[in-house]
Amino acid sequence: MPPKPPRWRPPSSVEERLKATGEASAQLLRCWECIPPLPPPRAGEWLAAAQPGARDRRGQSFADFSRPGPHRTFPSRQQQKIYLTPLGAADAAPAWAALAGALAACFSLPVCALPSRLPREELAALARDACGAGYGEQLEAPSVHALLARHRPRDAFALVAYAADDLCDSSKGFSFLFGQANLDKGTAVVSFARYQDAMPSLTLRRCALVLCHEVGHLFGIKHCIWGRCIMNGSNHLEEADSRGFALCPVELCKLASSLAAVQPLDATAREEAMLRWLGAHGLHADAEESRQRLRLMRGETEAATEVATPPPFVLPDERYDRRTCGMERRLLARLRAATSEGAESVRALLEPTLASLPDNTRIMVAPPLGKPTAVLGSFIDPSVIVWLLLDPLDVDSKQVTYCRLEAPEAIQLFEALYKWAPFLT
Ligand SMILES: [Zn+2]
Ligand SMILES: [Zn+2]
Repeated sequence: MPPKPPRWRPPSSVEERLKATGEASAQLLRCWECIPPLPPPRAGEWLAAAQPGARDRRGQSFADFSRPGPHRTFPSRQQQKIYLTPLGAADAAPAWAALAGALAACFSLPVCALPSRLPREELAALARDACGAGYGEQLEAPSVHALLARHRPRDAFALVAYAADDLCDSSKGFSFLFGQANLDKGTAVVSFARYQDAMPSLTLRRCALVLCHEVGHLFGIKHCIWGRCIMNGSNHLEEADSRGFALCPVELCKLASSLAAVQPLDATAREEAMLRWLGAHGLHADAEESRQRLRLMRGETEAATEVATPPPFVLPDERYDRRTCGMERRLLARLRAATSEGAESVRALLEPTLASLPDNTRIMVAPPLGKPTAVLGSFIDPSVIVWLLLDPLDVDSKQVTYCRLEAPEAIQLFEALYKWAPFLT
């Protein structure tokens, strides 16, 4: 039997991400730190083998996006508004203003309501699939695009409609759709039929996120494979919910280049607007990640350490004194190489160094957010902790040393461990 090909995994190494992003500002590149990688797809998920989404596995780098062609649209000074409208009575939908706020924050463009309602007779004449796919009668997306195109205002960059009805596109073989964008017409339609949850904030998150996703497509942005991002595809609700409410740096570069004719993108102001929106609508986990991105954009990396939320067993309490310094060059090089091989290599590298450290020391290799790569040494109430933080871009790899010894031992220890150099050759 021929050997099984290695399992495909979404690209998320520093090199892959930097290659996808291209020439971006350090401010944007730092945000990669806050974009968790996508896990390898499970059966039935968007990027799994034999799923239609498997063709997205190549990804669309910024360089791909920048090639001239019919796959892109740009707002201009004359056409920069995003119009947002319910498609008929979408009574159970979140408030229009809340949805409009998400789009305005995400794309830094004005969002408006249509000057008048869509005509009832035209809505009644939309093509439908009466059988549906478990969520009642479905709207055929192409007929919705045709209707929207007839009512697209002249100053619109995009006209986006949201429907309470389920959505499908029988002509393309999609038995249901969360949303669909039509780049040629500059129109998009999303369905909220599958998004209702007992928690209104979750319902709003789903609805707002799918709107931002489809408008992203209207710029010509394709599905993202570089990390958890608004532009990830999804085959089902669980997968859709696992997307981050963030545009990754690849998407931000695409947005910046698309907005150039209207105004330069102020990425920090954009993120501040996102944070305000997320916070105002009770999406606290997303807001915390947005706050983190803002700190990275502003270069407040010390503050990023401050809010670190690694698991409780690696989080020292107020009994510890703390010093932060850059990571020693040789340690950084070895650690980076070991990290690329996996957690076992990191442990093998660092295990022998414990002997040169005081008894009751813990070493941990962990990012400021999320799961540690490796934790070695003393697990119970250590007196010294050496926390090594690898910055994915190497600009800010740090060592944070915690110590709860009394002076003068503590002072000596901080001196001895300043830019800890266990590998002298
Ligand atoms: Zn999509
Ligand atoms: Zn992305």
